[in-house]
Amino acid sequence: MKAHDGMYIDGDWRPAAGTESLSVVNPADEQVIATVPAGTAEDIDTAVRAARAAFPAWAATPPAERAARLGALRDALAARKDEIAETVTAELGAPLAFSQSVHTGMPVAVAGSYAELAAGYAFEEKVGNSTVLLEPVGVVGAITPWNYPLHQIVAKVAPALAAGCTVVLKPAEDTPLTAQLFTEAVHEAGVPAGVFNLVTGLGPVAGQALAEHEGVDLVSFTGSTAVGRQIGATAGGAVKRVALELGGKSANVILPSADLAKAVNVGVANVMSNTGQTCSAWTRMLVHEDQYEQAVALAAQAADKYGDRIGPVVNAKQHQRVRGYIEKGIAEGARLVTGGPEAPREQGYWVSPTVFAEVTPEMTIAQEEIFGPVLSILKYRDEDEAVRIANGTVYGLAGAVWAADQEEAAAFARRLETGQVDINGGRFNILAPFGGYKQSGVGRELGGHGLSEYLQTKSLQF
Ligand code: NAD
Repeated sequence: MKAHDGMYIDGDWRPAAGTESLSVVNPADEQVIATVPAGTAEDIDTAVRAARAAFPAWAATPPAERAARLGALRDALAARKDEIAETVTAELGAPLAFSQSVHTGMPVAVAGSYAELAAGYAFEEKVGNSTVLLEPVGVVGAITPWNYPLHQIVAKVAPALAAGCTVVLKPAEDTPLTAQLFTEAVHEAGVPAGVFNLVTGLGPVAGQALAEHEGVDLVSFTGSTAVGRQIGATAGGAVKRVALELGGKSANVILPSADLAKAVNVGVANVMSNTGQTCSAWTRMLVHEDQYEQAVALAAQAADKYGDRIGPVVNAKQHQRVRGYIEKGIAEGARLVTGGPEAPREQGYWVSPTVFAEVTPEMTIAQEEIFGPVLSILKYRDEDEAVRIANGTVYGLAGAVWAADQEEAAAFARRLETGQVDINGGRFNILAPFGGYKQSGVGRELGGHGLSEYLQTKSLQF
């Protein structure tokens, strides 16, 4: 596949400081499809300096002009939609139709939403005898994961640019080709040199150098809780802003009055989507004891339909990790209803859609993020117990509630310690704030709330 052999810094592709490279592997068949340079602390330093130098002019650029660049970025991404979808399929393994709709369509829409938000945003407000100015934070270090390669980038870079910040991006090592395509689109959109910079490389090398760089004013990270905790500590030590979008173990609560078949089918689809590699996936299904066996049977039936519809997981490490969790579920006494730890194909990182019943709240598979196509079904006796189970993990990213009427479901949703709840299958909204309670993170992405993460306030008294 096409790959740039350099870093994008100060408006140009330029050679990396070091000589190491990263292999990009297609998870469907384990073939190396490209190599990209592995950035070092030196590349990061050059990129941060470029972003610093570009900051004053970009911050002073009228919002309408920044909005125009974001509109051009949306168009440049849309013009590359086929290439982006093919690239996501090659490096992540997602089925092409899903790469086209979700992995490409959603980020194009998000870029467009920030073109509109930037144009109309109130960067100044009156409070009594004060004028409050909302000013860009400065240089942003963005560190993104591989699970939604383009969306995760756009969800950080578009609001940062809309706010008037400049950015250095360190994308995930598994999916750098999508990041390079995004960069081509930024260049084509006429974003001034230095406003956006790309350094590919390893997390503990390039990522850590970016998180620790004193020229970075805000670190925005999405990925594992372990790395997020480390980045949060580093940022705290330097008293700099940090946004963390971490893991989840979201509950899908089916109340007794709900349409059971619909709730189970949509719930299974949600977990299997992107091969379970979604931080907000409803990986725990909570069902009333009277409907439990019926729900388990429906879920097994639904999951079996995904056998040849989902892609592999992203890499060998995740392959081992996900199958290790399935083994642990069996060892801890959960009932394996369908799927299992055996890899369904010899080549590639494939995992069978897996459903566990008789899962109790303290089991590992009910507590830890698996990040694979694995559903745990838990039983509750009454609403209070359902709330306790739903809230009984360290996470609080998303969730779902199903009931006969919206009000009943919404009343239950108010009791959940989580950042997002879908009521009776409510559609994903790219303008609604996305982010976590508890250890699922700090800060919000998307829409106006996402934009405000990149602003700091100054008040002038008259
Ligand atoms: P990770 O946290 O290691 O990687 C995410 C990003 O952080 C990548 O760009 C990586 O290069 C970078 N990174 C890694 N170590 C770093 C460090 N020390 N300093 C700075 N940056 C660093 O995640 P992973 O290993 O790819 O996945 C492991 C688990 O994380 C998954 O199984 C899943 O549970 C979780 N995860 C969550 C999300 C999410 O959307 N919240 C996304 C991916 C993975």
